[in-house]
Amino acid sequence: MTKNNNPSVILKPGRDKSVRHRHPWIFSGAIDGIAGAEPEPGEVVQVQAADGSFLAHGYFNAKSRISVRLLDWQRGAHIDEGWWRERVAAAVMRRTSVATETDSNACRLVYAEADGLPGLIVDQHDGFLAVQMLTVGIERVRGVIHAALEELLHPTGVVDLSDDTARGLEGLPPSSGSGTGKPPDRPLAIRENGFRYLIDLFEGQKTGFYLDQRTNRRRVAPYAQGKSVLDGFCYTGGFTLPALAAGAQAITCIDSSAAALDLLRQNVESLQAERPACANVTVEVLKGNLFELMRRYRDEERHFEMVILDPPKLAAAQAQVPKALRAYKDLNLLAMKLLTPGGILATFSCSGAVSRSEFHNAVAWAATDAQRSVQVIEQLSQAEDHPVLISFPESEYLKGLICRVL
Ligand code: SAH
Repeated sequence: MTKNNNPSVILKPGRDKSVRHRHPWIFSGAIDGIAGAEPEPGEVVQVQAADGSFLAHGYFNAKSRISVRLLDWQRGAHIDEGWWRERVAAAVMRRTSVATETDSNACRLVYAEADGLPGLIVDQHDGFLAVQMLTVGIERVRGVIHAALEELLHPTGVVDLSDDTARGLEGLPPSSGSGTGKPPDRPLAIRENGFRYLIDLFEGQKTGFYLDQRTNRRRVAPYAQGKSVLDGFCYTGGFTLPALAAGAQAITCIDSSAAALDLLRQNVESLQAERPACANVTVEVLKGNLFELMRRYRDEERHFEMVILDPPKLAAAQAQVPKALRAYKDLNLLAMKLLTPGGILATFSCSGAVSRSEFHNAVAWAATDAQRSVQVIEQLSQAEDHPVLISFPESEYLKGLICRVL
């Protein structure tokens, strides 16, 4: 074993518990001091308990509220180039079944802390990779990560789609928009669950497509058979296409983004051209505020047999949770009012700050106000390429319920 000369971060007494539980973050307030030279931004450090015992290896950033992000709990680990390559390769290997089992060529290959690679997100869209490098510790090994991805996947092109606000919190300059290799087509065609979707990596939200809903799209779609469906917050048609193919009788798609709806129209057109059974289904596409449109439908006494609600993140931080819960309640209340007796509500929350039980309560609150009995028939989470690390509850953010509204 080679000697580890990395600086050591010493925790205050009693602050080692979360580290022993393998939570990957150490906040600045838990740190008592540093033994050795002050670590450079992003440098690998050893974390020790107050009594000097070894806890874990991580990378350091004095500028971030999260001072250390932990990488490895094995004392003898060496966080060198080989270590990073192995971590990336292991994450990629864990995804091989997604493509074959779901007929998809778009998938999250690296999901940050949940894959033991804090600060790094890599999404694959056919031959293209969308990479997010969100911390100084990852920025420091940018070259190693890119080389590993190149060697493992031989991508046609790689684009940086980092959230520049998150980078800013780490003291990093913006990097979004840069890339190597061939720039991706605009729009770019991907396949998910056997459906063809056009996406725009640059104008799009997230890294172009909500990959975390892949499994839920398969779970929700069968309920659409024979029904009039409202796909609220439809974006580019992630749920619309499977619902259409499952035999929806009519679909109304609503989103506030004109660019997303433009792609949705093209996605629907190619599905209808490909599958004659879907060709005669009316697909109404409306740009607008879903809250307002649902209120209007309520006043007009327009009804649907199924409503899908997949709103954007309504709470970015803990402080916004009460307001977000009111919004979830309002949305679900409106949806319940539009539903015919026995109608299906597929409702989601992607706000990490809102817990599953809080979301559940918001839907229950809506049911009370709507004076409807509501059965939960399926409970949903994020797709398997967005695993939830059990020691890191923050990695779970997507919650969904399929309900029957009696
Ligand atoms: N269901 C989609 C993803 C939805 S993401 C899929 O499966 O791919 C959330 C969407 O809500 C975004 O497309 C955003 O443009 C839209 N949006 C945000 N606020 C809105 C509002 N008030 N009314 C309608 N759409 C809104």
